Amino acid sequence: MKWEYAGRSDVGKVRQGNEDTFFADGERGVFIVADGMGGHVAGEVASQMVADTVGPGVSRALQDGVGGKELTRRSLELIEEANRAVLSRADSEPEKRGMGTTLTLLVLLPESGYLFQQVGDSRGYLLRDGEFSQVTRDHTVVQQQVDRGALTPEQARDHPLSHILTRALGTELNVEADTYEDVVRPGDTYLLCSDGLSGMLTDTAIQEILSRPTEGLQDVADALVDAANEAGGLDNITAVVVKVLD
Ligand code: CA
Repeated sequence: MKWEYAGRSDVGKVRQGNEDTFFADGERGVFIVADGMGGHVAGEVASQMVADTVGPGVSRALQDGVGGKELTRRSLELIEEANRAVLSRADSEPEKRGMGTTLTLLVLLPESGYLFQQVGDSRGYLLRDGEFSQVTRDHTVVQQQVDRGALTPEQARDHPLSHILTRALGTELNVEADTYEDVVRPGDTYLLCSDGLSGMLTDTAIQEILSRPTEGLQDVADALVDAANEAGGLDNITAVVVKVLD
C-alpha cells in the first residue's frame, strides 16, 4: 500500500497565535491533528505535547511490527500517557492551568486497514468513490443535540456554542478516545482537520476542493486553508490530506 500526504496549519485571520499542531510520519502512515485550548502559549504547548507523545510512539510501535488489536491498544495507552503529561504540566505551571487539546489520529495499517482515534472536535473524513463522509463523531454539546434530533448538522455548524467540548485531553484524569477502524481502498482520500476548517466550510465545499484535479496534494491542503480564510478565518486552520494510491 502506497500513499502521499500534505499538511498545512495556518493562524487564520483573527487569532494572534496558532494553537493547532499537526504531525505526519509519511513513511509509516501516522497522521495527527491536535487543536489546543487554554490561550496562546498554553494551548500551543498542549497540542504540541500530545502530537509529540502519540505520533512518534505509534510510529515506533509500527516499526516494531505491532499491528491489529495490539496497535489499537498501544495507541490508546499513548493517548492516556499524553493526557497525564498535559495534566501534570498544567499542574506545575500555573500560567498553563486549564490548557487542553483535541486529538485526531489516523494510522494506515500494514494490513491495509485504517485506524482513527479521536477526542474532541477535530475531524476525520473519508472521500471514497465520490462519497464524502465524516468518520469521526465530535465530542461537543451541539453534536449531542444533533444525535437527539434537536439540531441539524448545518445548524450545529453555525451554532454559537459549537465550540463547547464534552471531551478533551488535559481536562480529566482519564480520557476516553473513540476508535474507528475499517479497510483501506486504493484511491481513498483521508482528511484530518481542526474546527477552524470544518467550522468555516460546509462538507460539500470541502468535498469539492478535495475532488479538484491538481498538480499535487499540497495544492489541495493549501486550497482548503485558503478557502477557510476566505470564509472568514475566524479560528486557526489545519488540514492534513492523505491519498492512497492505486
Ligand atoms: Ca479550534
